[in-house]
Amino acid sequence: MGKKGKERARERREQRRQEISHLRTVPYSPHERWWSKETVAVVTGANQGIGYEIARQLAVHGLHVVLTSRDFDRALGATTNLQAEGLSVQPCQLDITDAGSVMSFASWIQLEHGGIDVLVNNAGVNFNRGADNSVEFAETVIKTNYYGTKRIIDTMLPLMRPSSFGARIVNVSSRLGRANGRKNKIGDPTLRENLMKDETLSEQLLDEMLTNFLSQVNDGTWQNGGWPQMYTDYSLSKLALNVYTRLKARKLSERLDSHRVYINCFCPGWVKTQMTNWEGNMSAEEGADTGVWMALLPVENISSGRFYAERREIDF
Ligand code: NDP
Repeated sequence: MGKKGKERARERREQRRQEISHLRTVPYSPHERWWSKETVAVVTGANQGIGYEIARQLAVHGLHVVLTSRDFDRALGATTNLQAEGLSVQPCQLDITDAGSVMSFASWIQLEHGGIDVLVNNAGVNFNRGADNSVEFAETVIKTNYYGTKRIIDTMLPLMRPSSFGARIVNVSSRLGRANGRKNKIGDPTLRENLMKDETLSEQLLDEMLTNFLSQVNDGTWQNGGWPQMYTDYSLSKLALNVYTRLKARKLSERLDSHRVYINCFCPGWVKTQMTNWEGNMSAEEGADTGVWMALLPVENISSGRFYAERREIDF
């Protein structure tokens, strides 16, 4: 993108930021507010950054939030801050890569609340910064961002409460995980096409893609594998999460209306958090906005299997 293109992109971003800032001041009408203080929202990795902000904003809207962190003390610290603002928030330990932790969490939710209405899968890792592109931690990145998120979705699905407004799953993903991204796309056109087409997309295809990438990491050939060029391990983990969101939405659409679960993903933008070493062009508060908006969409406006950014649908 040339200098003028960059300038135009910056102006468009700024304009959308102002529009959203205005939209955030518009209160939900009683008709749109499908939730109450009994509505339970779980946010993963919510001790800091975007997850903390999603938890805070959902609680400000009047939901009860279970704020989870892989470290209980960090969950407690964040919860204490929010409770001091008068918000209804509860801490709980949850490491999405640890099967035991996920099972204990599900049992605790069952006992404490009987079920949940909203699940925000925010927990994630990225070990690259700036222009780095190391795959030293590729296994952890894929195990956390894709398989960990999948694990928590599968474990929590039976606990998602049936209702007329539908339970909601929001996956915090990234534009870096687009199969057809301008700079960061999958090189193999057949794989790209198979990921995009409903008839060829499957969990097995995703598993094979990730296994193939990790074996190339192990034997040192990944650089010639046609993978995304920026933050390769992270981009692939988010690509798998995006594509899985579409796949899962299709499976969930077979449910009866009374047991509807909507699942979508979004990109928060480039956000100043620990993950980006505090670089970025927006605050965590702004980055959380689209996720909160998606979780609270009035039932007549909600769809499933979509990818959003700045409160608008974008391509996978
Ligand atoms: P942070 O590093 O601030 O937050 C990440 C959170 O995930 C932390 O709470 C971290 O816990 C938690 N986490 C990591 N691994 C696990 C695990 N195994 N189990 C449970 N929690 C875990 O980064 P951000 O707030 O920026 O990131 C939040 C989400 O947004 C991520 O999914 C990220 O990929 C996504 N994102 C961020 C962008 C950005 O520009 N910041 C851009 C696009 C997407 P701990 O504190 O213990 O490390």
